Amino acid sequence: MPNIRVSVLFRPLNLKEKSEHGDSVSIRAIDSESFIFKDEKEEEIKFHFDRVFFQGSQQADIYEFLALPIVKGVVNGVNGAIITYGQTGAGKTYSMEGPGIIECNEEQKGLLPRVVDGLFNAIKLSDDITRYTIKLSMVEIYLERVRDLFDLSKDNLQIKESKVHGIFVSGVTELIIAQSGLANRAVGETQMNMASSRSHCMYIFLIQQELKNEKRYGKLILVDLAGSEKAERTGAEGRVLEEAKTINKSLSALGNVINALGSPGKGNHIPYRDSKLTRILQDALGGNSQTALLCCCSPSPSNASESLSTLRFGARAK
Ligand code: ADP
Ligand code: MG
Repeated sequence: MPNIRVSVLFRPLNLKEKSEHGDSVSIRAIDSESFIFKDEKEEEIKFHFDRVFFQGSQQADIYEFLALPIVKGVVNGVNGAIITYGQTGAGKTYSMEGPGIIECNEEQKGLLPRVVDGLFNAIKLSDDITRYTIKLSMVEIYLERVRDLFDLSKDNLQIKESKVHGIFVSGVTELIIAQSGLANRAVGETQMNMASSRSHCMYIFLIQQELKNEKRYGKLILVDLAGSEKAERTGAEGRVLEEAKTINKSLSALGNVINALGSPGKGNHIPYRDSKLTRILQDALGGNSQTALLCCCSPSPSNASESLSTLRFGARAK
């Protein structure tokens, strides 16, 4: 069985949704792992996941369930990935970062700043003969091109593979992170370089362990995916249509890779090479890596159709 845990997050209703449907929601909680979902035709479908975070859940709880086990693994050389999926506006970036990386209170801090703190804590608790180095890269995949968010002049980086490092983005800027505050500042200042909800944003942490001249590496990749909404808006053309098609293709590729990992046997070809996204994620998914997928949804009947498609993606990944 692959080490993938699939959780669902319902963010609170927003003002627009409240103005349309008042306080009504399309879900009814059963327990912390399951709920009844009411689709557009009011039909009820039961879903079960590893964990469900209902409206008003705490960022700290999401971190503890989703990320903490992965963070602990990474400092011991076990790779990991944490991925947020869902339509634009569903809460992916909020879960990943919080309302903002630099100015945000303790309680609202998202996964990314908590992961950085968690890495430093885990290292502090380890023996003190091992030397650790943490490196961070930030890339964005837009229209199947990999762009360095720390150096925008590098806008079509290639993905390569080596015996020592596994899969890596060739020539990408790697910041050596000496303390958590600096990491968060670097990320915060880089955000304005990010294209939009039409690109996949990847935070790649490489943790190097050095003990008696022997080096070990752990890799942790956080992915804030492009919005999964369908571009059904008739008249979508040119760049908008092209964006929608490439996003759709890479999200299907991700779904296919996760499914292939979950169905052992059958010759089992894992189609990592079908997209840049899955290729970069290759050695952080599968093998003995630990993966967490957070499927973000609006709880509003206004978004029932997109929420259902997000829940189906999550259910298929299990
Ligand atoms: P996405 O990245 O999926 O497009 P965002 O994370 O930007 O969506 O969220 C859209 C809006 O909803 C933002 O204004 C954000 O502040 C708000 N929001 C999302 N998740 C939460 C949450 N868990 N609690 C409070 N507000 C949230
Ligand atoms: Mg976002």
